[in-house]
Amino acid sequence: MTKKKSLDFRKTKKMKDTTSPYISVRQSRIHGTGVYAKKKIKAGTRIIEYVGEKVTKKESDRRAQTPLENNAENEELGAVYLFEINKKYDLDGYVPYNTARFINHSCEPNCESDIVKGHVWIIALRDIKKGEEISYNYNYTWGDHEDHPCRCGSEKCVGFILAEEHWPKLKRKKKSKKKSPAGK
Ligand SMILES: [Zn+2]
Repeated sequence: MTKKKSLDFRKTKKMKDTTSPYISVRQSRIHGTGVYAKKKIKAGTRIIEYVGEKVTKKESDRRAQTPLENNAENEELGAVYLFEINKKYDLDGYVPYNTARFINHSCEPNCESDIVKGHVWIIALRDIKKGEEISYNYNYTWGDHEDHPCRCGSEKCVGFILAEEHWPKLKRKKKSKKKSPAGK
């Protein structure tokens, strides 16, 4: 997988890529580019801020439905980079300077995303060893999960990028589907 997204990045001011003393960016074992712990990270550490463009809900809804590239092969919609930060605004992380956009989803993540005073942070859920890949649950909603298969490789992988609160529903669905052959 190659990332050609730089062609279609949001038109934003030129800004420096965000950095963090805790991480390095390189080829991922999960998918595309990934983010790795450069040193030991303690549980609770704010590792890097997930930055982007603050947009109104209306603009966010529009972007959520827009493909990220004018490329028939890529059906990824803008929704995947949008974070809700409060009732009025969302954050669109689809900007070149947002280094945190390289962090992959995992069903057994070592980090979580959290909003601290209107800022989105990637925070360590547990102590992380040097060299571990940084991951968090993207917390996608139920409606879109079938478009987002997960290959995180963890033992807990549920097969889709999906918020944990929906996992029981997924299990029930899998059970009821057992009769029919598993198709792609
Ligand atoms: Zn998974």
